[in-house]
Amino acid sequence: MKRPTKSWKTTAPAAAVLLALLSSGVGWSGRAAAQQPQAARPADGLDVQKLRDDVYLIAGAGSNIVAQVGPIGVILVDSGTTEAAPRVLAAIRRLTPLPVRYIINTSMDRDHVGGNQLLTASGLSILPGAVVAGAGLDDALVSNAGKASVLAHENVQTRMSEATGAAAYPFALWPTKTFAFHAYSMYLNGEGFRVIHQPAAHTDGDVIVELRRSDVLVTGDLIDTTRFPMIDVSRGGSVQGLLDALNRLMDMTIYNLPIQWNDDRTLLVPGHGRVYDKLDLLEYRDAITVVRDRVADLIKEGKNLQQVKAANPTLGYRSEYGTDRGEWTTDKFVETIFAELAKKPGPAAARVN
Ligand SMILES: [Zn+2]
Repeated sequence: MKRPTKSWKTTAPAAAVLLALLSSGVGWSGRAAAQQPQAARPADGLDVQKLRDDVYLIAGAGSNIVAQVGPIGVILVDSGTTEAAPRVLAAIRRLTPLPVRYIINTSMDRDHVGGNQLLTASGLSILPGAVVAGAGLDDALVSNAGKASVLAHENVQTRMSEATGAAAYPFALWPTKTFAFHAYSMYLNGEGFRVIHQPAAHTDGDVIVELRRSDVLVTGDLIDTTRFPMIDVSRGGSVQGLLDALNRLMDMTIYNLPIQWNDDRTLLVPGHGRVYDKLDLLEYRDAITVVRDRVADLIKEGKNLQQVKAANPTLGYRSEYGTDRGEWTTDKFVETIFAELAKKPGPAAARVN
């Protein structure tokens, strides 16, 4: 059925307003602000961006760090590297004189948990006197011997405690409170925090942290805007689990429709790189899905790893997300997808190079 057409008389003014808004750039001001690089990096190497009235992104400390500031103090998601921790603490002090109360870690990655020791020691648990006062609240969540607490999924603690030799984690970086089920919720600073486990994605200990009132999703390395997502198979990660997590994020994210010139929208803070919105996430999710499907098709055609690589399955996405530098290159990403898909039972299984 054809939609009834409005007369030119009634649609023209509305179209003119829309055109004026679009051409003036008003429609994309929020997006531009989120993407704009700082004019100059401050002397401490950290960029602090205000995302919401009481939510800040601290970038440049290894991983991105989110600080939610309220009446009881500061709730952090991730703590950056050990080396950056004193500068992170100084940056938090410039936001508020109140103590750090709680840290939530999105994975066991060293550049996400490295600041746990200094930042918890400088902080204060939620009810520091609870045990002494005989209140019976000896849970590490609220008392933790007076220090701020660290929450993570149980697999984060398991991986940290298993690591040995040069890879070992100092005990002071370990979480003080873990959960083994799907999600953990709490209300702090007038904000509902939902910590949702994503099994087998970047690792097996990843969580999405939802700041419900502020409508901010902290994704950890489920998203890394500087490269294709790092899938750490040795620590329980998988391509399918990562795609599941990105699809879950799509479900949880709201775009600024139907009034596109409003800035209102869900913000996604990735483990590394710039703040995303739903449109950015859609492009990232689609890129990974398309590359995965291309590799799957090539495997079905009987191609081995060399032939898959030669067919350039990241074509069209390489300039946006690809990198040949560092430990997680585009090649590694393709190899990881190939290994996971070729492993699956079926005719392709015999073709693992
Ligand atoms: Zn990371």
